[in-house]
Amino acid sequence: MDINSSNIEQIVRQVLDSMNGKPAAVVASGAIPATAKVAMLTGLEKIEIKEYPMPLVGDDDVLVKVEGCGVCGTDAHEYKRDPFGLIPVALGHEGTGEIVKMGKNVKVDSAGKPLKVGDKVVTCMIFKDNPDITMYDLNKQNVGGADVYGLLPDDDVHLNGWFSDYILVRGGSTIFNVSDLDLDSRILIEPCAVLIHAVERAKTTGILRFNSRVVVQGCGPIGLICIAVLRTMGIENIVAVDGEEKRLSFAKEMGATAAVNFKNHSGIEALAGGVKDAFGGYLADFAFQCTGSPVAHSNIYKFIRNGGGLCELGFFINGGDATINPHFDICSKEITTVGSWVYTLRDYATTFDFLKRAKGIGLPIEKLITHKYPLEQIDEAFKTNLKMEGLKIAVVNK
Ligand SMILES: [Zn+2]
Repeated sequence: MDINSSNIEQIVRQVLDSMNGKPAAVVASGAIPATAKVAMLTGLEKIEIKEYPMPLVGDDDVLVKVEGCGVCGTDAHEYKRDPFGLIPVALGHEGTGEIVKMGKNVKVDSAGKPLKVGDKVVTCMIFKDNPDITMYDLNKQNVGGADVYGLLPDDDVHLNGWFSDYILVRGGSTIFNVSDLDLDSRILIEPCAVLIHAVERAKTTGILRFNSRVVVQGCGPIGLICIAVLRTMGIENIVAVDGEEKRLSFAKEMGATAAVNFKNHSGIEALAGGVKDAFGGYLADFAFQCTGSPVAHSNIYKFIRNGGGLCELGFFINGGDATINPHFDICSKEITTVGSWVYTLRDYATTFDFLKRAKGIGLPIEKLITHKYPLEQIDEAFKTNLKMEGLKIAVVNK
């Protein structure tokens, strides 16, 4: 049990109460304050820390004390332009925290694991329209069809996003007990699930195998996690392509065997030659396109051997049209292509195991979180994200 100031205050109060002859109140570790702080996006590039009364916890609800939450590209878009028309909104969907109170009907998480006060949890999708759907039915449905905390319209509860100090997880939400993961790993679950899904999609082509030569184009957080997922699957022959040496050297730490800086090659023929050289004279069996650049999409076909495969996952949002030559790029080479977007609930659960395995083989996953800010400095966190500084930016509560 960790003794913090609120614990001490409580113990003192209990002792004083018992001295006065009053029975001591039965409470869980750490008293729940009367109000909660929420970072509310109230206008474009305007976040205000608001204080709301702590909501009542219904029979199916779970009150979670937030420990941390990653800043996502989606949050940054919403902060700058409000494309989803959500303002005012409490953002933050890559969050995690500790259960401080549970409704009487809540016994297990969405995977059937027991839940109790003190457990560390994450949430995934909310099935408002179909609360009976279970995670095992969901292999065909990605998160596009559901709501998530952190992208919900404001309501009279207000505690709807993870950029806050408390969040109310309501009945019908998916919640997972991830007490066996450390805080950094838990903050990285959501972005990692995107790559678990992409690799699962890639596997459907039948081309990705133990001994495959795999090229990963783009070494932002998505490309770097992609490399880590491939390594945990036993794929060892990975070439990373990016234009920044810092990112390329991190790609090697994450398990890439070789790195190709596209700035050192002028023209696509030369670049494809660079990738081929990095594989010791072979083109890739499989490619993951992890940038949002149309030119990068056009280029990647040139890295792939005849009969190879491609997973396109970089265009999370519309980045414009890309030009390819259908004869040379797909038809004559017989390339098998899959697209990948977000994840399913099943991928979410797989991600917990991936994170343990990545640590087990010594991949420095936690180094992906390059910046941490307290809730009060959330504006700084967003600005750092928008400047494209660092990799994953996180808000971490004390
Ligand atoms: Zn996200």
